[in-house]
Amino acid sequence: RGSCASDSSDSVISTGSEAESQVYKVVLLGEHGVGKSSLARVFGGLEDAGHDYDEAGNTYDRSIMVDEEEAFILLYDIWEQDNSQWLKEQCMRMGDAYIIVYSVTDKSSFEKASELRIQLRRARQSENIPIILVGNKSDLVRSREVSVDEGSACAVVFDCKFIETSASLHHNVHDLFEGIVRQIRLRKDSKEE
Ligand code: GDP
Ligand code: MG
Repeated sequence: RGSCASDSSDSVISTGSEAESQVYKVVLLGEHGVGKSSLARVFGGLEDAGHDYDEAGNTYDRSIMVDEEEAFILLYDIWEQDNSQWLKEQCMRMGDAYIIVYSVTDKSSFEKASELRIQLRRARQSENIPIILVGNKSDLVRSREVSVDEGSACAVVFDCKFIETSASLHHNVHDLFEGIVRQIRLRKDSKEE
């Protein structure tokens, strides 16, 4: 009887880990107000036009098809959930990929993004983690403080991808998540070789 029970639990465990290997944990970082939660809601398909949520933190899961292959993303919008150092360190450790968001209308959020990039590099030194730098609120043309060139130059320096989005207009949000999946897959493939 004992061996029978352990056989069945073994098979459960192996199925579980196979499924898990397809799940990508993606963490949103960035200063307050840059649009992290808005991007997360657009991604999660929960966006309610004209509504401003004020939730402390959230996790969204969704599968998307990228290059004819399904990818399952767990998106964590928990960076601002509380101010504990523990949570911040946890965030820096848990992700398979990171989205560092600033607002193109807020220069200081852009500077903060660089700091976060440096922190992340310190926390995950030997790893080559996919990171995308995101300049959000591209729709606010007249209050822009950070140019596209500045954003992409920063991404070059920090060796990460770059995209500008507008959560309000849903502009480039899908491309952002497709890009993340492609980057994760690329790094996985090159590790396996
Ligand atoms: P978070 O603090 O980073 O989670 O930022 P939120 O998602 O809560 O957004 C902060 C404010 O910016 C809210 O009032 C949003 O409606 C607004 N916002 C977010 N994304 C955009 C955008 O792409 N364009 C514009 N015009 N406003 C945005
Ligand atoms: Mg938020």
